[in-house]
Amino acid sequence: MSSFYELSYNELKDIITANGLSARGANVLYNWHYKKKNFEPCVEDLSKGTKELVYGAMSFGLPRISHIQKASDLTVKFLFELEDGSKVETVLIPFNRKYSVCLSTQVGCAMKCSFCFTGMQGLKRNLKVHEIIGQLMMVHKWLGENRPGPDARILNVVFMGQGEPLHNFDAVKKACDILIAQEGASMAAQRITVSTSGYLPGLMRWKDEMPGVNLALSLHSPFDEIRNELIPINQRYPLKEVLKFIDDIPLHRKQFVTYEYLLIKNLNDSEEDAKALAELLKDKRAIINLIPFNPVPGSHYQRPELSTVRAFEEVLVSYKIPTMVRVTKGDDILAACGQLNTNS
Ligand code: SF4
Repeated sequence: MSSFYELSYNELKDIITANGLSARGANVLYNWHYKKKNFEPCVEDLSKGTKELVYGAMSFGLPRISHIQKASDLTVKFLFELEDGSKVETVLIPFNRKYSVCLSTQVGCAMKCSFCFTGMQGLKRNLKVHEIIGQLMMVHKWLGENRPGPDARILNVVFMGQGEPLHNFDAVKKACDILIAQEGASMAAQRITVSTSGYLPGLMRWKDEMPGVNLALSLHSPFDEIRNELIPINQRYPLKEVLKFIDDIPLHRKQFVTYEYLLIKNLNDSEEDAKALAELLKDKRAIINLIPFNPVPGSHYQRPELSTVRAFEEVLVSYKIPTMVRVTKGDDILAACGQLNTNS
């Protein structure tokens, strides 16, 4: 049985009209499930034929919550179990009294970044569209049931959980299309960010296929030698090549590319690193996110001192590059960047 959450608006409409039913049914259904966030069958004005077609022939199954961890700062980490028993994690992050959600795109990950818990697991499989959308729908459901009220709103979606999103390009692109669809959740593309470690085959498709969402690159070092250690696919797709393709992506007037920079003690946190990073990005529409490393079990990397983080930031600011130091959320439940692991 195919999943409702697998279908773009146009695909749903085509299925409905191919059965001789009114296209309006697709609007009603997208509005009911995505905009109004209902999880029960639609009780609004929908023809009997459309109801039978959709609710008789499509699945509305969502990932099952296998485990929940709540941090003291209101971050929530969900461990979801999928139909085949695979597990993925999703993180709900408080943000300006509303929320952001960090979605996973693969079970495990093939990129093997040396600082990342998920990378240690290897790639098991890609997530399907309904499993990506399903994570978000389940988080909406949980919020509605557990933290109801006007602040229970998810304003931003980031594809930064387990997996390399551009290694599962088709599913991630379609999930973005579904979230943006005017007839449904109608999210602004600028509220969605897709992060990549620099997976070039995906970046080469971005310009023509991705629907105006934000891009974040995990940069982590301006020097190939260190980047090779941190992000092994840099050996295959070197940073210079990656940046060339990113520079070619058209940006909206207020849009920037975010460059994520994990600061690791005595590895990539020196003044020389900061200057080389600034030289690399100074003429680009760039925002730099500095992320002091979050220790993970079994890793020999360490978090730098706060004074080192501030000194690094100052160099970037002196080049007038917008720079933020990311406040680590959910630290006490291993929900921060690079800490997701479904084996735990
Ligand atoms: S950091 Fe991202 S791309 Fe790298 S191994 Fe982890 S999940 Fe994969």
